[in-house]
Amino acid sequence: MENNIKQILEKDRLNKEDLITLLGTNEERAKLIYARAAEVKQQMVGNKVYFRGLVEYSNICTKNCYYCGVRSGNKKVNRYTLHEEEVLAAARFAYAHNYASMVIQSGELSSPAFVKRIGKLLTKIKKISNGELGITLSMGEQTEETYRYWRECGAHRYLLRIEASSPELYRKLHPNDKIHNYEQRIEALHLLKKTGYQVGTGVMIGLPFQRLEHLADDLIFFRDLDIDMAGMGPYIEHEDTPLYQYKDQLISKRERFTLSMKMVALLRIIMNDINIAATTAMQTLDPVGREKAIKVGANVIMPNLTPVSYRQNYLLYEDKPCIDEEASDCIECLDNRIRMYGGEVGYGEWGDSKHYYKRTGKTEVNQKE
Ligand code: SAH
Ligand code: SF4
Repeated sequence: MENNIKQILEKDRLNKEDLITLLGTNEERAKLIYARAAEVKQQMVGNKVYFRGLVEYSNICTKNCYYCGVRSGNKKVNRYTLHEEEVLAAARFAYAHNYASMVIQSGELSSPAFVKRIGKLLTKIKKISNGELGITLSMGEQTEETYRYWRECGAHRYLLRIEASSPELYRKLHPNDKIHNYEQRIEALHLLKKTGYQVGTGVMIGLPFQRLEHLADDLIFFRDLDIDMAGMGPYIEHEDTPLYQYKDQLISKRERFTLSMKMVALLRIIMNDINIAATTAMQTLDPVGREKAIKVGANVIMPNLTPVSYRQNYLLYEDKPCIDEEASDCIECLDNRIRMYGGEVGYGEWGDSKHYYKRTGKTEVNQKE
């Protein structure tokens, strides 16, 4: 078996069957996958880890995804939207501490007022940072015009997880209506490419009804879509959501974590030059989960810059960590932890996806476009 794993890992192109075998290895043999991924990472993207200061802009959402704690149907949530000045303060903090980039994430809204508000925010963030802060958005499905408008205002990366690349599984995780449509989500990913973003997607790992075969297909989906960035993490149940009823059918949290580690490592192996995030959900299941993910392939981390008083209202899942730590408490601690796991923080560098530049033939820029 061990030789078999080694042989598979030496192949130039892994197919679905190979990926299923690798995803199914025990923890001992998984180390071979991690070692290979670490090697590929070192060769292709080096050991730098890039910070993206995360701002959770609003938990108001028109959608009702079955897994998510802030779904519109959850009446227990106190809804908030950050004030412009609060986002700008986070941007100033990121800029002052050399983070080089930020991510603005939000529940999905698409009213003209919302679209405009975000556009204005982007322009202001660019202005206060001399055009130097890179901005990633994660605001769900929008029209082509909106994506284009936000791109022109200064956002240059966008995260939109497909959540589950199998249409059949996707349908089990979302209401069956017009605003939760699988084809539309795929279309949105294409629109993001068309409008010039570095495009990131991802899935949740360890979902109810999900099998190894689905995860192998997810990896192949990323490769076929030729994505620039990925953010994946374990599914973590939330009491006030419909999927909670399947909690007893889930694989254990430890297994979900290991499977997430394998997904990160395998993605690094099959798409060697993309950016991969070490996600907060991995930290939720293991106190050094993000650092472990960095060791096996991830190269981006998103320290939370949301003002502390709002954080307990942005609980997409249970036990979310760091909800009572000020951003300034995190920097040194995170920097040390990353070093301990062989990484080095790329302060002041955008650390854009190398894959994006290869894919588009554009010349890599570092800060300011
Ligand atoms: N509304 C936007 C962005 C915010 S949600 C969107 O949906 O694209 C960001 C991500 O949180 C989602 O893509 C989903 O993958 C993740 N998420 C939501 N609920 C989760 C849960 N219970 N466990 C793990 N991840 C979850
Ligand atoms: Fe809204 Fe995103 Fe949560 Fe779905 S996952 S309910 S779109 S915040």
